[in-house]
Amino acid sequence: MKLSGSRVKARLIAVAAAVVLGLAAVVYHLADYAAGTGVLILAYHRVGDFDSEYAVPVGEFSAQMDYLQHKGYHSITLDQLAEAIETGAGLPPRAVVITFDDGYWDNLTNAYPIVAARGFVMTVFVVPEYIGRYYDFLTWPQVAELVATGRVTIGSHTMDHQPLAELAPGQQAAELVDSKRAIELATGLPCRHFAYPFGSFSQDTLSILAGAGYRTACTGITGLNWQKTSLLLLRRTNIVKSRWGMWDFRARIFYSEVKFAGEKLLSQIF
Ligand SMILES: [Zn+2]
Repeated sequence: MKLSGSRVKARLIAVAAAVVLGLAAVVYHLADYAAGTGVLILAYHRVGDFDSEYAVPVGEFSAQMDYLQHKGYHSITLDQLAEAIETGAGLPPRAVVITFDDGYWDNLTNAYPIVAARGFVMTVFVVPEYIGRYYDFLTWPQVAELVATGRVTIGSHTMDHQPLAELAPGQQAAELVDSKRAIELATGLPCRHFAYPFGSFSQDTLSILAGAGYRTACTGITGLNWQKTSLLLLRRTNIVKSRWGMWDFRARIFYSEVKFAGEKLLSQIF
């Protein structure tokens, strides 16, 4: 039987559509599987109507927290995540850690009320040298206010927002140890969590962090976290001002899920 040109074309289109749909189904299931087994860490900077790519408007942030709640996400602390990775302790399904880098004042005035209203908890990585020096950042009394809520963990983001990989080991140690001490003095609580400024670290950084008594460190590497993720190399999903509303947020989480599922499958094969 000879097919006409247009029929061949129609069949090709049908086959291509089936392949695309099949692939989409596989990717969708991979993401779903990932969401069920990996822990999501969201990385924010500012919440408010500021002229910066890193500022998520209040309405948008609120809608994102609503989305997490409706999707059945459970907000956990970095200590809970560390405990789960260290001991194999169970975590609630769809666990999420909400983090903020740099310690902007709007983390208290804009982000915190929205997080707390949903029963969530959050972590703020502060830069001690910025505190009380620059207007855009939290003051120590504001940091204390966050701590007093019992819903906020304060972590370190170095003393002066330095790209650690570019520093000599001695300087790296000073950034890590001094910031930890400054935060502990101000909050009266141990400071055990860290986020790498600019996502920058070297092999030295990892041993200095561990030696200084840090329990976890958040990178800028995309993905989810599970039993085999190093606690000093936690994966995050960076959230910036959206271009397409909630689709942007969902797409970023979806990408982390698919990347994680792919890596996890590969690690099980090889
Ligand atoms: Zn930063």
